[in-house]
Amino acid sequence: MTAVPGADDLVVPPPLAEAAARVRAAAPGVAQAQIDFLAGLIERRSYTGEEGPAVEHTLAEMEASGLSDVRASSAGDALATVGDGRHRVLYDAHLDHNEIADEDEWPHPPLQPTVDGGRMYGLGAADCKGGVAAIVYGARLAAELSLAGECTIVVQGSTLEEDAEGFAMRNLVEVDGFAVPDAVLIAEATDLTLRRGHRGRCEVKVRVRGTAAHASTPELGENAILAMRPVLDALEAMTPSLPDDPVLGGGTQVVTMIASPRTPNTVPSWCEATIDRRLTPGETAESVLAGIAAAVEPLGATATIPVQTISSWTGVELSGPAFFPGWLLAEDDPLVAAGRLTCAALWGEPPPVEVWQFSTNGTYSAGVAGIPTLGFGPMEERYAHTPQDQVDLAKLLDAAMFYALFPLAYTHIRDG
Ligand SMILES: [Zn+2]
Repeated sequence: MTAVPGADDLVVPPPLAEAAARVRAAAPGVAQAQIDFLAGLIERRSYTGEEGPAVEHTLAEMEASGLSDVRASSAGDALATVGDGRHRVLYDAHLDHNEIADEDEWPHPPLQPTVDGGRMYGLGAADCKGGVAAIVYGARLAAELSLAGECTIVVQGSTLEEDAEGFAMRNLVEVDGFAVPDAVLIAEATDLTLRRGHRGRCEVKVRVRGTAAHASTPELGENAILAMRPVLDALEAMTPSLPDDPVLGGGTQVVTMIASPRTPNTVPSWCEATIDRRLTPGETAESVLAGIAAAVEPLGATATIPVQTISSWTGVELSGPAFFPGWLLAEDDPLVAAGRLTCAALWGEPPPVEVWQFSTNGTYSAGVAGIPTLGFGPMEERYAHTPQDQVDLAKLLDAAMFYALFPLAYTHIRDG
């Protein structure tokens, strides 16, 4: 056994070290095909709910990669399987991306994949098409080299994440009857480190009522916008007492939108503020609403969490509360150990284990369903949702190597 420097609890068993050597030897042979697949994904614009062409492209690549049970879910996620062992692991990366902003600031046209200096530039490269190329090619290597161990690996190019993270995964489990996996790996941006959680988020609508009157006689009405002023102050005053988490950081709460009737010559009869609340693990829709209600109800306002409805490209309507829980996997969870062991076997050293700033599909897998969830991806968080959208191609291949070897490391951790 090889002890890993700087991590004396981590010992790479010889069969895993041997498998890692095979992965390292085989990976360069698929590098160009992986780059071509990613380029094809970037060419296919896939705004949330419009992922059809990118899903078809992913399904075709899964077929060509020798994966089994290639199919689409009812919401139109691309799915394929490797192995048939007793440990069920889901690899997830989403195919939808943010809309193009500031197009003239992009160094290359957003939908024209461009390789420059060992990096591929293009819309969605960093969030999250690089992740899709990593997991599909990890699965391909695992299939070619027979590395599934005692795992059934399901690879998912998912949909609808940017607007409603977790909705597609909930639909897969709760509507399509997909068997709940033992573990979920999410290939969002981690720059080849491991991530074990993030804060959650929630949208709250706070509303006050007034009485309409002609704006020429305001004394006959009750102005709802003016009534909102102390409500906003009360919401702002809550910030210092929001729940804190020593790892993820504190909760935050900010007013992001204000609405009222669109009639410039009427005293407004209602005013509605939209609140973005960031959550620590353990907060529930009920606990968030109770806290806000206690602050605003004495001022005559009501608080609700809106229901969000979204349509998939296949025409399925998914809806649920705009509440996306936070989550944090224990540092000593076997899934973290398997992730560290995979990196140690491939590169001699486990990477840091950190948390994400942004929200992911882990909000459902870990936050709602309680499935151990871990992040690992080749992309860098700072390029997501920016005109510098890109992924390092060497890291892209490294991430495929990680996903190829992970099943054996997970088997070793689970079964000894
Ligand atoms: Zn993402």
